[in-house]
Amino acid sequence: MKLLISVDMEGISGIVDWDQVTPGHAEYMTRGRRLMTDDVNAAIQGAFEGGADEVTVSDAHWNATNILIEGLDSRARLNSGSPSPFSMMQGLDDTPPPDAVMFVGYHAMGGTKKAILDHTWSDHRIRAVYLNDRQVGEIGLNAALAAHYGVPVIAMSGDQHACEEGQTMIGPELELAVVKNATGHQAATLLPLHEAHHKICEAAARGVIRFREGKAAKPFVVSAPIRLAVEFVYTRHCDRAYLIPGSERVSGARLEYTAPDMIAAHRAFRAMSIIARD
Ligand SMILES: [Zn+2]
Repeated sequence: MKLLISVDMEGISGIVDWDQVTPGHAEYMTRGRRLMTDDVNAAIQGAFEGGADEVTVSDAHWNATNILIEGLDSRARLNSGSPSPFSMMQGLDDTPPPDAVMFVGYHAMGGTKKAILDHTWSDHRIRAVYLNDRQVGEIGLNAALAAHYGVPVIAMSGDQHACEEGQTMIGPELELAVVKNATGHQAATLLPLHEAHHKICEAAARGVIRFREGKAAKPFVVSAPIRLAVEFVYTRHCDRAYLIPGSERVSGARLEYTAPDMIAAHRAFRAMSIIARD
């Protein structure tokens, strides 16, 4: 059983503000990357305890060069660097392919009330994303991409809102590790790190065991053709993103795009996000 662990940073244990997840800031350099690597190691440990045979980790934050490979559990391979074909989900088309996915350090979609660093892909450019009229964040976008390959998301970690979003979308079988309780966009009650790591390890192990027993969550399938809608923060972002052929500008800051499958929808969304850059 091969597990792909996709690791974002805003939902990592101990993280509460943008400085801690933004390259160049002292907090990021001295603490954020270490905290991220420690959470990943807890997930890797749990995956093997649960019976995984192989683990690939994909660094899924910013430019994907955050996880410290010198501190990473040496049983895992690391996908690092950007842009890669599948971005946060790099590794989905590996040989052999992963059987299941775990999200570590994920955060709630943009607009969620009192959730740590809530946003969807870009805090500066994107206000909301919809797949077939259902609002999704990174959890939904990436789970839907995995589902294109028939791969389920079996466990995740983050704050209480990210975990709730994951279960609402993916199902009650999704194993959770709530590592902090958010009280605002940049405020939370943090668990002691040893406790947070224990929860992540346990969620990973339970997820893998469930999968091996055939009781894990089902893939988060979005039916094709997929209607992607993106609401940008400013109309100037939409001016640029509209350059994607086939996109329809339905209002000042909203684009819609019909994709034949989730791979095309994910690529169109990433392209819009990149070219909308200020
Ligand atoms: Zn993110």
